[in-house]
Amino acid sequence: MISTIESIYHRLLSHHGHPRWWPAKTPYEVVVGAVLTQNTAWGNVEKAIANFGDAHDLSLSPQSIPLSPEAILSADLPDLAAVIRPAGYFNQKAVYLKTVTEWFAKYDFDAAAVRREPLEKLRGELLATKGVGPETADSILLYAFDFPTFVVDAYTVRFCDRYPIDAGKGYAVVKAYFEANLPRSVEVYNNFHALIVINGAKHCRKKALCEGCPLGVECGRVG
Ligand code: SF4
Repeated sequence: MISTIESIYHRLLSHHGHPRWWPAKTPYEVVVGAVLTQNTAWGNVEKAIANFGDAHDLSLSPQSIPLSPEAILSADLPDLAAVIRPAGYFNQKAVYLKTVTEWFAKYDFDAAAVRREPLEKLRGELLATKGVGPETADSILLYAFDFPTFVVDAYTVRFCDRYPIDAGKGYAVVKAYFEANLPRSVEVYNNFHALIVINGAKHCRKKALCEGCPLGVECGRVG
């Protein structure tokens, strides 16, 4: 029998369509975006990412920092902070980008090498990395490296409270609830988190805009 959570997933998918996340050209760009998106809107992340040079553009000036792990590791912190300024908290995030890139260096910046490792080992390593909390770690593992680990964010918690879905409290508990009630599938986890964000930004905002929300049929808080 299909779970309530799974039926919500299918309703969101048929309403909003396939979200095709994460919008990035390489796994490393996902890693960078996952750090930059902390405490800011995605539009600001796009502006910060656009400030990096193309890693394959040989005509770049010596001052430009290409969006590559080697370039970010060797960049001076103030220069890196200046590039990512649109994402906010840029001094802090410049440090975080370096530490998460040092983690990636352990795998020779090779996404295939990361994918050969066990999920829990990688998750532990990322959580021990400065500036990487559970949401960032799971975003990196799911969207950059295709591991089946569900991402929980503020939109997830808000829609659960309102619907209501008794998913429990705290990141680990809510994550475990979703994983227990969904097929263990990278595609489902990928799409579902993206759809929750899309629906949350459009409808289930701080002040809910329930009109037209595809969950309104069964949501207890509709209106
Ligand atoms: S119907 Fe309203 S409260 Fe319920 S999920 Fe949609 S926007 Fe949120």
